[in-house]
Amino acid sequence: MIPFHVPYRTELEATYVAQSIASGEHAGNGSFTKRAQRLIGELTGACAVLLTTSCTAAMELAGMAAGIGAGDEIIVPSYTFCSTAAAYLRNGATVVFVDVDPTTMMLDPQDVAQKITANTRAICPMHYAGAPYNVEAISALAEAHALTVIEDAAQGFDATYSGQALGTFGAYGCVSFHETKNIHCGLGGALLINDESLVRRAEHIWERGTNRAEFLRGAVDKYTWLEVGSSFYPSEMQAAFLLAQLEQIKSNTQLRTRIWEFYRARLSDGEARGDFHLQRIPANSTLNGHAFFLRLQDEDTCERLRQHLRGAQIDARTHYVPLHTSPVGRSLGYAPGSLPQTERWSSSILRLPLHHELSDADTERVCAAVESFFH
Ligand SMILES: *Cc1c(COP(=O)(O)O)cnc(C)c1O
Repeated sequence: MIPFHVPYRTELEATYVAQSIASGEHAGNGSFTKRAQRLIGELTGACAVLLTTSCTAAMELAGMAAGIGAGDEIIVPSYTFCSTAAAYLRNGATVVFVDVDPTTMMLDPQDVAQKITANTRAICPMHYAGAPYNVEAISALAEAHALTVIEDAAQGFDATYSGQALGTFGAYGCVSFHETKNIHCGLGGALLINDESLVRRAEHIWERGTNRAEFLRGAVDKYTWLEVGSSFYPSEMQAAFLLAQLEQIKSNTQLRTRIWEFYRARLSDGEARGDFHLQRIPANSTLNGHAFFLRLQDEDTCERLRQHLRGAQIDARTHYVPLHTSPVGRSLGYAPGSLPQTERWSSSILRLPLHHELSDADTERVCAAVESFFH
């Protein structure tokens, strides 16, 4: 069986974790955390980086730091992971779901523009499959209406648009280091802060609402509780594991984009014949090879192809059930029929295996099996 995903491993995780245990620094925000944050800062160019226990936590932290709460409307794609909405719902915000552009399966700027009201506070776009959303259009709308942009860059680490890292276009960018992502520490994430004036508040919230981080840097004499925060950062053991993977990010990205490009080149004939659609990638992007998907003509074709690949010992996977038609979405008053493109295409997406252990022969086998389904 060709697995859909294999969590990334390097040679160094065990060494760094052992060093972190021996150091006697355990609880987090220690030397491994600082090294990981520095490396992420260098890679992305973010003003500041805070390691978190997940991308979900990074989005919750961003929502708290941005002061998003009751009475605020936030614009979120329906075709995404539930955390992209839940992170703000928990603080009482109203989520306004927007439709996708089927050529990218990312939020459609025209629908965003239509859904902006006097109560809109933020847009939370998601970078899908390691490719950028329509950055220019979303940034222009945010600027015109003075909205905060919080990027869900869970899948976007080490990818760029126009020479700039995904996760650094909005005020905040949220990255995931979950084991299903390109690099990971089991569970983990990071908040990228892209405006110097926002750093201190985010750091207080990250440190349980205190100025302990400043105290440890010697900037204040004693530390105190300043506002309601939470416990957002991982232990030093996780940071040590992550650092090992961060040091290999360039080879990881190279490996994955090679496979991604193999798929793209090998399957372009099928796309030209109209068997399926491939994701449209904006010019000026460098990808990270996070995921490669086919958009089939309908759900039935998608399911039959999935079964066909399964029969050929290949594990391909579908993706998100739209949030607005999920039980939570319905309980919030959304109903099917409101986002036609999302409803039309979300069940027709099939992701092909993509991980660091996939050989050229494996990738070729997947492509041949896709072709044999259609011809
Ligand atoms: C993985 C993922 C998340 C959640 O990340 P966690 O680190 O597991 O919280 C959120 N959004 C998107 C788009 C994701 O792919």
